[in-house]
Amino acid sequence: VPTHLFDHIGELTTNDPSCGDGTPMGRLRDAALLTDGESVLWVGASADAPAADERHDVQGAAVIPGFVDSHTHLVFAGERSDEFEARMAGERYDGGGIARTVAATRAASTEELATASARRLFEMAAAGTTTVEIKSGYELTVTGEERLCWLARELGDAATFLGAHVVAPEYARDRDGYVELVAGEMLRACAPLVRFADVFCDAGAFSVDEARHVLAAARAAGLDLRVHANQLGPTGGVGLAVEVGAASVDHCTYLDGRDVEALSSSSTVATLLPGAEFATRSPYPPARALLDAGATVALATDCNPGTSYVTSMPFVIALAVREMHMSADEALWAATRGGAAALRRDDVGRLGVGARADVVVLDAPRAAFLAYRPGSPLVASVARARRGPEGHDASPGRRA
Ligand SMILES: [Zn+2]
Repeated sequence: VPTHLFDHIGELTTNDPSCGDGTPMGRLRDAALLTDGESVLWVGASADAPAADERHDVQGAAVIPGFVDSHTHLVFAGERSDEFEARMAGERYDGGGIARTVAATRAASTEELATASARRLFEMAAAGTTTVEIKSGYELTVTGEERLCWLARELGDAATFLGAHVVAPEYARDRDGYVELVAGEMLRACAPLVRFADVFCDAGAFSVDEARHVLAAARAAGLDLRVHANQLGPTGGVGLAVEVGAASVDHCTYLDGRDVEALSSSSTVATLLPGAEFATRSPYPPARALLDAGATVALATDCNPGTSYVTSMPFVIALAVREMHMSADEALWAATRGGAAALRRDDVGRLGVGARADVVVLDAPRAAFLAYRPGSPLVASVARARRGPEGHDASPGRRA
């Protein structure tokens, strides 16, 4: 197996405290990094760099782990730019919201969905993302959700069943019937294809009791859990996520002191999605309160056609620093190691020895440029580790 040496790295972020300066960022200056194209073999000073089959002189550039985008709704058809325009103009506009995307997605062929999703994945990769979680949730039928879970598994690195996104239009007068369908037949069809189940527990979506029912069934089916919560109000979803031991609770826009306390004393990651607040002109989540209380914070794009048609993690980092008062280092960590924690992965989001060789070289001397120069394409190159024989979703903790 040929080895690759990244040499003359001006600022290397490993996110491995045992490397470099001993901080959580695990930083080294004038560093080098050796991989075999699959894993990191060695990290150290440029002056001590070992010989390698291929040598890549990055000439003082910053190097970071590939971004881990732990929350996306990547597989969908159509777009809703008219809704965005109306919202920005301050107009009330009911274009149908999620239901419109459900109709477009149901009408699309599997090939059309795969092609559209692959284009978005290409954008993500070009912006430095090397690990992507993908949710179902835009068909809301047994065979449709099964199809989306299959696509999520084929295209991404972590697949999530989100049958409980909204109540399917066919069940508008029978919520309980839909919850039973999701927790029963739909879950049975989708569970073999995914690692996670997710529920949209919020105003206008599913109640805490409905969400608890679906999550309990998913846990019994062997899935790990995620929850969309407290995006639209203080609806109790965060407490539920901590109660059920979810890997992550996502959005966290409206939190009270008890929510912050619960998150800081649990292993549930708080995943913040500021692209959604940006695109809906809403208040941003209280990232500072979470970080100061010691909660683990992740950042992700929430890529979806309605409320965050964002694929760029550097853009999310810039929002986190400018609007949520995270430091540039906190935001970078949350977009890499934080995302990995939200997916219960220890092999991505860091560049210590043994981690996957997902290496991003920036066209900048310091990673802080990601927030400092928003909107500029600062990713010079992306090396993504070869995946194992199981394909993209060969994560060690994968159960299905
Ligand atoms: Zn979402």
